[in-house]
Amino acid sequence: MRMSQYFLPTMKETPSEAQIVSHRLMLRAGLVRQTSAGIYAWLPLGLRVLRNIERVVREEQDAAGAQEVLMPTIQSADLWRESGRYDAYGPEMLRIKDRHDREMLYGPTNEEMITVLFRDGVKSYRDLPKNLYHIQWKFRDEVRPRFGVMRGREFLMKDNYSFDIDKAGAIHSYNRMFVAYLRTFARMGLKAIPMRADTGPIGGDLSHEFIILAETGESAVFCHKGLVDKDILSRTIDYSADLQGIVNEWTSLYAATDEMHDAKAFEALPEGERLAARGIEVGHIFYFGTKYSKPMNAVVAGPGGEQITVEMGSYGIGVSRLVGGIIEASHDDAGIVWPDEIAPFKVAIVNLKPDDGAVGGACQKLYDALTAKGVDVLHDDRDIRPGGKFADMDLIGIPWQVIVGPKGLAAGKVEVKNRKTGVREEVAPEQVLARFS
Ligand code: ATP
Ligand code: MG
Ligand code: MG
Ligand code: MG
Repeated sequence: MRMSQYFLPTMKETPSEAQIVSHRLMLRAGLVRQTSAGIYAWLPLGLRVLRNIERVVREEQDAAGAQEVLMPTIQSADLWRESGRYDAYGPEMLRIKDRHDREMLYGPTNEEMITVLFRDGVKSYRDLPKNLYHIQWKFRDEVRPRFGVMRGREFLMKDNYSFDIDKAGAIHSYNRMFVAYLRTFARMGLKAIPMRADTGPIGGDLSHEFIILAETGESAVFCHKGLVDKDILSRTIDYSADLQGIVNEWTSLYAATDEMHDAKAFEALPEGERLAARGIEVGHIFYFGTKYSKPMNAVVAGPGGEQITVEMGSYGIGVSRLVGGIIEASHDDAGIVWPDEIAPFKVAIVNLKPDDGAVGGACQKLYDALTAKGVDVLHDDRDIRPGGKFADMDLIGIPWQVIVGPKGLAAGKVEVKNRKTGVREEVAPEQVLARFS
């Protein structure tokens, strides 16, 4: 992509409405624009990030045995009357009437809809377990939408739903998602800690929130320090095997959000192991048994023909909130520092003298060769001062900058700068290719 042609409205000034760093940087780096309270348009650079987050989420969901579907954003109120939640849900639900005066709503979550799809599609215990997910926009009319995409009213969520024949099966499904979530967030460069959580309006009796630590987080959290750096990515996971041992490694250490906090148990830990902090909820998993399947009659025939009410769980990831969450966790004074997996482009070519034919030619050659290798490249070919280019590149946080200028080129060199460390190296243009794949 050539930056001179890219729709990338960056800002020098700090927007006054943004209270936290991720919101400021998302506006300044031209990732999103608010179109009305808590509702955002995603601009090209922001959309690339959002899609990368979705990709990681999908890969991990698929690996854990979930199957992707796509349910609509608009739902019928009747669905929610079946579960009894239509009246219970409260003013966060956006209720709409169609031209025939039928009551509809913009879905805040999908337990009811998926339960009906399951009920109509699965009849026998032989077809279990099932785990279905989608990545779809939700609407919750939050009292105080704020912090940009972190607490939007319209937001993108990955939600999935598991169906099992009995509680043991449902716990296995829960554990699969527990481990898949650990992997998902770790791949995004985040340290997300599963914490015992309240089940809230979803209901049920087993639940963990996945929390990333950040001063700007809205929840007070308490945990064992050992959880912060626990590693999951170095292990090979077999999702068909019993995962309870891995789950226990995490859950045996104290970790709870303020609603579930047990001050006594926490204070029993040695002081040096206690961590009281603030956190951002990026994911939330629930096991809730037959809370929806029972009122909505989601049953299958058992081996002896008997009717068995299925055991369910639901699992959410705040896909759009993660864009803000990742920036909270990874930025410096100059701007965003994208983790590799999530970066909108992997490499930026910074052309220091666009009107110099040799420099332009060298940049184009690098661009073509990297692109041919499948590397996503942003080419800053704009006719502006080098200082402005460096500032914009640091702001938008591309992990690698390849800086090409006339003097270096005459000596057969370009500069490669790592955005995170700031380390610069001089290398021959041909060597640039070998470094990226
Ligand atoms: P919160 O406590 O932040 O209000 P929640 O507990 O109401 O979130 P869940 O019903 O658990 O949210 O939804 C699953 C995930 O969706 C959350 O873990 C969060 O990452 C994301 N999410 C929820 N509400 C919003 C929102 N208003 N804006 C952006 N993401 C959200
Ligand atoms: Mg909420
Ligand atoms: Mg919550
Ligand atoms: Mg929650």
